[in-house]
Amino acid sequence: MKALQDKIVQDGKVLSDTVLKVDSFLNHQIDPKLMQEIGQEFANRYKDAGLTKIVTIESSGIAPATMAGLILGIPVVFARKRKSLTLAGNLYSSKVHSFTKNETNEISVSKDFLKSDDVVLIIDDFLANGEAVKGLLDIVGQAGATASGVGIVIEKGFQDGGKLLREKGIRIDSLAIISSLEDGKVTFAEGDSA
Ligand code: 5GP
Repeated sequence: MKALQDKIVQDGKVLSDTVLKVDSFLNHQIDPKLMQEIGQEFANRYKDAGLTKIVTIESSGIAPATMAGLILGIPVVFARKRKSLTLAGNLYSSKVHSFTKNETNEISVSKDFLKSDDVVLIIDDFLANGEAVKGLLDIVGQAGATASGVGIVIEKGFQDGGKLLREKGIRIDSLAIISSLEDGKVTFAEGDSA
């Protein structure tokens, strides 16, 4: 997605060979217009998938997921990283190791908001080692729901998550795929300019 690539080049900060900071439009301050375009792109790609729900993870998946949900006219559920007392006992949970924070969180979704007849699009901001997506797929599986695919805003193609998930036959739609962050420079994967 050209507008996203341009924004990454213009405003992204390469923190290391593995970490990209995009807190001026996605992870802290949010660019609503770009989020709308991202939501529209996910909606276009999944408009015929019979989706009933979008599932994401707090906090940075919520903005793009909400835009897609608005356009598709379906609810958005975000997995919580901290258990709320009012949710206790009525939860699907999974453990997720965070690449950027190097800590393991238990993520949870209330059983009230995910049912066996749901057809789900999972959305997240980044795909690195695939831990967050695996946790969300685990939760969708626990509910007996169907995961139609995974929408990712920025995939770091030089990390293993995308490969591992695609090898399992899971549909992954990444709107920008970065092949390298070496020498402080963002390089996109070949062919990733649509
Ligand atoms: P994974 O679970 O695929 O290993 O990592 C994805 C999660 O880690 C995303 O939800 C995102 O919050 C965070 N993450 C991974 N890599 C980056 C990165 O380079 N920059 C930012 N801002 N977040 C990242």
